Amino acid sequence: MLPDEKRQVYMDHAATTPVDPAVVNAMLPAFNQFWGNPSSLYEQGRAANSLMETAREQVAGVLNCRPAEIIFNSGGTEGDNLALKGVALQAKLKGQGNHIITSAFEHHAILHAAEYLEQFGIETTYLPVNRDGLVDPEEVRRAIRPGQTALVSIMYANNEIATIQPLAEISKITREHGIVFHSDAVQAAGNLSLDVQALGVDLLSLSAHKFYGPKGVGVFYVRTGMEKRILWQQQGGSQEKKRRAGTENVPYIAGTAKALTMAEANRAEYVEHTRNLRDRLLQGIQERIAGVILNGTYAPDKRLANNINLSFEGIQEEGILQALDLQGIAASNGSACNVGAIEPSHVIKAIGGGSELAMGTLRLTLGKSTTEADVEYVLERLPRVVERMRALSELTV
Ligand code: PLP
Repeated sequence: MLPDEKRQVYMDHAATTPVDPAVVNAMLPAFNQFWGNPSSLYEQGRAANSLMETAREQVAGVLNCRPAEIIFNSGGTEGDNLALKGVALQAKLKGQGNHIITSAFEHHAILHAAEYLEQFGIETTYLPVNRDGLVDPEEVRRAIRPGQTALVSIMYANNEIATIQPLAEISKITREHGIVFHSDAVQAAGNLSLDVQALGVDLLSLSAHKFYGPKGVGVFYVRTGMEKRILWQQQGGSQEKKRRAGTENVPYIAGTAKALTMAEANRAEYVEHTRNLRDRLLQGIQERIAGVILNGTYAPDKRLANNINLSFEGIQEEGILQALDLQGIAASNGSACNVGAIEPSHVIKAIGGGSELAMGTLRLTLGKSTTEADVEYVLERLPRVVERMRALSELTV
């Protein structure tokens, strides 16, 4: 095949997704027609505000909560930072604790926020994760320091290995102790139910670019009554009921609502589509390549349907991604935010994979537009790439 005929196969939907054309269309009126400042009291402002409040109602519908409990923000990183800093610093300020609990394999938006809080005297317990990639709710119970623990933050689905955490069970424990419960649900959106009543969470972070919406916009859910447990981090105007100052990005908010309602309406179909192709891809890889380890449990109710995360025996370097890129295959070794950093994956280490396995991982994540032909192409190219990488690794030992 000539270079200009090179196939492009996108297998990195956990990093980001393309904006759906219907989402672009939903944003256009907010650029072209309803461009007023949503805080302005005259007609143009009211029209923009009405668009934004309709979006808030739609998002609340998907989360099964009240519109007033929805805050629009800049994405998952902001939501995660606010959950940790807002709750921990408020507790500290009010003399209501100096301890938070999270897990060892959270996204860096959580882990680095916890690290930042150390300088304010906030202590963090990082719960272990078992070999399957699951947090045991009993570990949460054991880690609680009565009267001191202000927050538990456990992700809904992991971004590298896609394992699904038992949020409803954990929420029973946090409620018993009156502890705020936050979940980073960035990877779960579009794949799992986001019903905050069933999940029992008090705070939830979402990011639109993971469910075919635009980048740089997200949703933060705050259960009524929890506002007073948060030290709001952004001061200025009275937007978002004084919880997040700054003129709202109305077009992107409209896009977020469209993307989320579409993702929810098509969720069953999406899961079936990605699961069928994912299983075919996984089976094909296991048939064609020896010494492959699937990281995290395969149990269908405990892993997102669109994810494969593999370690290859005998490959301990990042070169596999570049080699796949040369074949037109876009994949990742875990968190996209870490590209360029040649560090073993903290997620694979947390589930007990040694540094060897943590270095040579490959994450393939499928999406709406993934086809059987894409799967066949990866099955044709990947074995050769792995063979070559293994030969190279042997030479460099
Ligand atoms: N949390 C998880 C689990 C993620 O996968 C990501 C993005 O990769 C984020 C948080 C950060 O979200 P954003 O890109 O919207 O800042």
